[in-house]
Amino acid sequence: MKVYLDSAATTKLDPRVLEEMMPYLTDVYGNASSLHSFGRQALNAVDKARLCIAQILGASPGEIYFTSGGTESDNWAVKGAARALKKSGKHIITTEIEHPAMIQTCKELEKEGFEVTYLGVDNHGIISLEELKKAVRDDTILITVMYANNEIGSIQPIPQIGKFAQEEGILFHTDAVQAVSSLDINVKNLNVDMLSISAHKFHGPKGIGILYIKNGVRISKLIVGGHQEKGFRAGTTNTPAIVGMAKALELCEEEKAENNKRIKELRDYLIKRIEDEIPFSHLNGHREKRLVSNANFSFDYVEGEAILMQLDLKGIAVSSGSACSSGSLDPSHVMLAIGCPIERSHSSIRFSLDKDTTREEIDYTVDSLKEIIEKLRSWSPLFNVEKGEGTYV
Ligand code: PLP
Repeated sequence: MKVYLDSAATTKLDPRVLEEMMPYLTDVYGNASSLHSFGRQALNAVDKARLCIAQILGASPGEIYFTSGGTESDNWAVKGAARALKKSGKHIITTEIEHPAMIQTCKELEKEGFEVTYLGVDNHGIISLEELKKAVRDDTILITVMYANNEIGSIQPIPQIGKFAQEEGILFHTDAVQAVSSLDINVKNLNVDMLSISAHKFHGPKGIGILYIKNGVRISKLIVGGHQEKGFRAGTTNTPAIVGMAKALELCEEEKAENNKRIKELRDYLIKRIEDEIPFSHLNGHREKRLVSNANFSFDYVEGEAILMQLDLKGIAVSSGSACSSGSLDPSHVMLAIGCPIERSHSSIRFSLDKDTTREEIDYTVDSLKEIIEKLRSWSPLFNVEKGEGTYV
């Protein structure tokens, strides 16, 4: 049996999305910037996609900018805003649990002379509005807080943060990459000035994303060259991917309520079975304020990587920490931020479900997991098997 429980890393392209993209990968191959009929045909499709996306976000088409994905959108939003506003101030507020695309962006800005406050989070991975308010200074020019965390799924109070930022006259950006598939992404409801999206997280193609920039917000360019995207983001327009992203977003919105209900039921079933049947397991993140697709667990006395590999041998795909930070043996910065002890952060596994996950797959996963953890613990010098309980020896 093959089980994919890593939708937070990426999702399968929906066949209906591929169907929509096909003409633009084959016959309609013109450059959307060309003046001839081949180009005009491509441009029409891009315009249509932009309008569709704008309507879903509650924005106007002129506020939608196409990028290569979440990483670029995050880089552009924050570097672009900081550089455009540097005469007004040099202070930026973010959180300790942002995706590396944001943390590294902020680190680079620090080298340029900006000062960044990284807000801590509580044990469930949620920031405190009070702490945020206290962090604001006279020279604060930008607040950027992720909507939902990619490792533990915790959801931040974005509308409230946005309202506060508006009252203070501070620009507010959110990385909504993990949120799109299940949460409200209407930019008016969220009170955001900028928002990052990536299509491959909601069954769209890879390498395409959006930066929503509210009318009137001034940010500098990140990628220069041609005049695409009103001269703000150069590079030949990726027509098939844009068309695919619009279709994926449309399907995502239409099917969101129904998918959320199904996915949440299965996710809760997964959590219940693990908590009931696997001793010394700990759910990381908030019990309610988390993405419906996310279950992140630590299993005492075993390494996350070992569990991941054993599950892989059984055809089950999960993640230990975020896909982007795997390959590193350092404990996850998110686990450390929620106060997880180092050994426990090394034993964390992220299960992320999607619309195609079935109950049989969850049962197979938990049955396999039980067997694997029992075996790994029986090999662990830290686990007292004789007593049948975990204890440091
Ligand atoms: N932000 C978050 C929260 C993510 O989860 C990811 C991808 O894992 C990104 C940004 C980067 O997006 P992309 O893969 O489209 O560059």
